[in-house]
This record gives sequence, C-alpha cells and structure tokens, in this order.
Amino acid sequence: MRPTGKLHLGHLVGALHNWIELQKQYTCIFGIVDWHALMGEYEQSQEIHENITDMAIDWIACGIDPEKSVIFVQSHVPEHLELQMILSCLTPLGWLERNPTYKEQLREIKTRNLQTYAFLGYPVLQAADILLYKANAVPVGEDQLAHIELTREIARRFNHIYKEEIFSDCDAILTETPRLLGLDGRKMSKSYNNAINLSDSEEQIRKKVKSMFTDPKRLKVADPGHPKECNVYSYYQLFGPERSNDVYEWCTKAQKGCGDCKGILADLIIERLRPIQKRRKELVGNKKEIHDILEDGRQRASERAGKTMKEIKKVVFG
Ligand code: SF4
Repeated sequence: MRPTGKLHLGHLVGALHNWIELQKQYTCIFGIVDWHALMGEYEQSQEIHENITDMAIDWIACGIDPEKSVIFVQSHVPEHLELQMILSCLTPLGWLERNPTYKEQLREIKTRNLQTYAFLGYPVLQAADILLYKANAVPVGEDQLAHIELTREIARRFNHIYKEEIFSDCDAILTETPRLLGLDGRKMSKSYNNAINLSDSEEQIRKKVKSMFTDPKRLKVADPGHPKECNVYSYYQLFGPERSNDVYEWCTKAQKGCGDCKGILADLIIERLRPIQKRRKELVGNKKEIHDILEDGRQRASERAGKTMKEIKKVVFG
C-alpha cells in the first residue's frame, strides 16, 4: 500500500479486512511502498515519511499482527531497487506502454505530472516487490490483474534469458471486496476529500455523515425514499447490516427523515471504529513500538530478499 495519506473506511473494507483474514492462512508480507508513493508524490515528498508511521499504526490498530506477518517499509530493503534495475534491463518498453492502468492514470490524473521515466516503469518495481520474496500469491482487485500478469511475463523472461527456473508463477488472490463510494457519491479519494478517515474524531465523523449525498428524489420527510439509490444505505449494508431492513422500511415508507437515518449511521461507524481508535491512541503514544515493529519487519524482509538477490546475481553475473 502506498503511504500517500490517511487511511479511510474504503481501505478498511476494501483491503484490510481481507488482509486480516489472509494472515490466518498464509505467511504474509505487507509492504508500505514508499518508492511507489514517491513516483506520484515527488513534489510533496516530505509528507511520505509521516504517512509511513501513520500507515503502520492504522494497519496494526485494525488487526494486522506483526507477530504473524512481516510489516516493513520498502525503502528499508534496498534489494527492491537492485532487482528493479535488473528486471528493467530485460523488460521490453512495449509491455509497459500498453499497461492499461498506466494509460488510464495519465488520462485521469491532472493534478500531478506523471509523464516520467519512473512512473512508466512502476510495474517493474511491483514485479520486483513480488519476486524478491518469491511470493506464491498476491491479493489484488480485478483492476490489478494486468500487473500480476506482467509480473509473470517478466519472471518467465528472466528465467528464459538466464536459463534457470529462479522464479515460479505467482497467483492472484482475487477477493471480492465491497466498493465503498465517497461521501459525495464519487470514487473515494484523498484528492476529492470525500472519505471518513480511521483517525477521525466522533465530531468529524458526525459532520461528514451529515454531509453525505442521499436519494436526490427525496426532498421532504413525507416523500418515500429509494434506499437502493442512496449512498447512506450502502454504508448501512457494510457498517450496520443488521439495521438494513429497518432502513429500507423507514425510508420507503417515509417514517424517518434523512437526518435521523444519518445520525444512526454515524453511531454505527463510531462504534465500529472505537476499538481501532483505542488501539491507535495507544500506538500513537508509543512510537518506539512502531519503530521496533518496522525494524523487525526490515530484518525479516531483508533476510528473504538477500537470499533471493544472491541467487539472482549468481545467474546474472556468474
Ligand atoms: S432515509 Fe436514509 S436511506 Fe433513505 S434517502 Fe434518507 S438517508 Fe437515504
């Protein structure tokens, strides 16, 4: 995950819930990928450092267990860049230029100049991130499948050129994750400032929920609403599924106003975040613990990365 800002509810339901489950079945390696963050945020690079600590705090507060899983910062393990360099040498330019996400981001993102050498090559760094640990599987969303395929192609090309089966194919773990829209109904994004952050205070959460877009056809309390067209209802399905039927009833029968409906949703979100925020507070007050966790992660990641690089250098340089 790129440390580009505060984590929000979208990260919680879209990634972290899944990761918490995965660590029950797999040995997981979770990277805070600051080199990837720099590729997009090179003009606000001072914020990356602070975001790294914040991200580690949020992960652990949500339930990523540093005893079970490796939590580390990408730039603390220099082998990522070494392997990226080697893989860059053998990755044909056309493979990168045809990457659909690259083309889409160049089209969509207007606030930063992404027409850079590093950004074109970000899938090579991603491939290095995966192959350095000889990962068997990577949890991804549908939109990331092309990156996993590219990693496979790069790995096969490496094996073919150096006539050694150093890398085996890695699988995508495709998990259906619920997609949460932002408060204004657009894609949830830091640049739209339309998300509830995991660290928001109760007051901020209430204010944000109050500002949420609702069914545009429901103008007065007496008008029956259409919950399926209301973003607030979709939040209920994730943060208070046990209340979904009640919401459906009171909305379609015009028994409650949107203000009351949002008030109950705010309570549910506050309750859901309470244990996370409690743990968060303890960790914020104990930065040494975070530092130690990241240092332990660096050592565990380096051990694996060093072993792989030794093998790679042997076949490349003899
Ligand atoms: S009552 Fe609730 S679900 Fe219905 S339109 Fe208002 S906010 Fe949306």
